[in-house]
Amino acid sequence: MATHILIVEDEPEIRELLNFSLTRAGFRVTEAESGESALQQLFNQLPDLVIVDWMLPGMSGVDLAKRIRKDEVTSALPLMMLTARNDEADVLKSFDTGIDDYMSKPFSPKELIARIKALMRRSGVPEDELIEASGIQIDLSSHRLIIQGQNVNIGPTEYRLLELLMRHPDRVFERDQLLDRIWGRSTYIEIRTVDVHILRLRKVLKPFGLDGTIQTVRSVGYRFTPIS
Ligand code: CA
Repeated sequence: MATHILIVEDEPEIRELLNFSLTRAGFRVTEAESGESALQQLFNQLPDLVIVDWMLPGMSGVDLAKRIRKDEVTSALPLMMLTARNDEADVLKSFDTGIDDYMSKPFSPKELIARIKALMRRSGVPEDELIEASGIQIDLSSHRLIIQGQNVNIGPTEYRLLELLMRHPDRVFERDQLLDRIWGRSTYIEIRTVDVHILRLRKVLKPFGLDGTIQTVRSVGYRFTPIS
């Protein structure tokens, strides 16, 4: 299973940016718009790490952090705080509440990811390095595709498509969902582009008799179905 990060942020644009960058970096991401909804989600499914925005409507990020630290189930969760304020007293206060690290907005997604990885290592969260099914292996650390023990050449877009589909076996992705997740919502790309890259992906898998794992769900989209 991929490392699971919960984003708690009320601003949709920042949530979207975080989700996009983190998913692309190989994390599994869930979102909450408020501290209250984050707490509910936390007890349903414990993530590996939480990113909390300081300024939230209702329960503040700091209060959420305190609640997380107080409960036995969640007390050890690595916490990264996003803050729009830079003054030291506030930052120190956040460390008192058990924040492991913080970043001020605006932040670069690249730096955030580096800091998250460092925080995971410090907290002993295992890094997810391999996705595997039906003899297909995606080595996330080296960005390699290995099929039946052989290194296989694959384009960067096909790689990301395969990675996304394999992370969610049997889940159907609509083409516009794939557009959002692979290319990002801000780029303008025709929906047919998805079909072109799916075709290329099947071509990569065909020599191994695995092109059938990428299935077309008529008038809906595509899914990865493992062959047993
Ligand atoms: Ca906010």
